[in-house]
Amino acid sequence: MIKGHARRGGKKMRKERQKNCIVGITDEYRTSKVCIYCFQDVRMARSRRMIKGKSKMVRVHGALECINPACPSFKEGYTIKARDPHAAAAIAIAGACVLLSTLHKALPPFSPDQSEELQR
Ligand SMILES: [Zn+2]
Repeated sequence: MIKGHARRGGKKMRKERQKNCIVGITDEYRTSKVCIYCFQDVRMARSRRMIKGKSKMVRVHGALECINPACPSFKEGYTIKARDPHAAAAIAIAGACVLLSTLHKALPPFSPDQSEELQR
């Protein structure tokens, strides 16, 4: 992933798509790092595995875990999410905000210039 850059695909591809539907462009900034329920950071899910007779914590690639106890998904016991659908939903949220907000900016957690201020 290229952090902080909008990946926009080929110009040709966009032109083809625009024949059939409206295409929105969204910066994917932090869309796979921010929980879509509480907007706090998620981490890669971990799992306890037996490796060479020893119990070890391993990271599960392709899965995300929200560790915020105040998160709605945490309260429902739904903390581990598949990474790609989660990021797709986050991109949809970020994109919808750009289209609907008067400032045409994504929500602060998905916006490079605004989230830096939040982290201070
Ligand atoms: Zn959360």
